[in-house]
Amino acid sequence: MTEISQATVEQAVKTTCATVLRNEFYFSDLDGLAGDGDFGTSLATGYRIIDAEFDSLDKSNIGAFLLKISMLVSKHVGGSSGPIWGTGFMRAAMLSKGKESLTLADLTDMLGSAIEGIQARGGAKLGDKTLLDALIPVHEKMKEHVAAGTADLGVVLKDAADEAEKAIDATRTLVAHRGRASQVGERSSGTPDPGIVSIAIILQDWCKQFGVDRTPSVAEVINQPA
Ligand SMILES: [Mg+2]
Repeated sequence: MTEISQATVEQAVKTTCATVLRNEFYFSDLDGLAGDGDFGTSLATGYRIIDAEFDSLDKSNIGAFLLKISMLVSKHVGGSSGPIWGTGFMRAAMLSKGKESLTLADLTDMLGSAIEGIQARGGAKLGDKTLLDALIPVHEKMKEHVAAGTADLGVVLKDAADEAEKAIDATRTLVAHRGRASQVGERSSGTPDPGIVSIAIILQDWCKQFGVDRTPSVAEVINQPA
């Protein structure tokens, strides 16, 4: 069974910091089309601190590391994203407590629990045009790979990135029902959800980081800042 090392988990978080910081203004511009335009800055405020403190974070095991990330995200990411993303990391930390490597099944369970936590925290469900519309299909695809016994984690990552990208177009014409974008109602139809876009771009950047050859096909992922 192929395992995901603690070093890989740490690298994924480090890469996510770079993704969020590079896309700070792009994500806020996307949010400004239907929301209050703060999404990129909210995320970047927290991830800038994670990036700066990265070398001194608790790395005694994966759970301890993710718990620290969860605390920093909850404390420093602004707007509604802080509690949402913080809850996701908290749930992932609980299931990886004491572990120094993860199987694909472990990682899939962590995402499943993160999704449950985010749903409980924010009250959103599939089709409400939130990041759950990316995370839930990614989780379903991961469960398929667990059931099939897929050993090549690069294949899983590529498929996950595909699912997140598909969610951008699948939800584009929906009206947002949760978060601040819901307050503008119909104006959110036709604009992509920045949370969904952020998940797609993070997964695309993980592909790049971990040597998975993948060409993006949705405008928002193709056109992000280099
Ligand atoms: Mg906003």
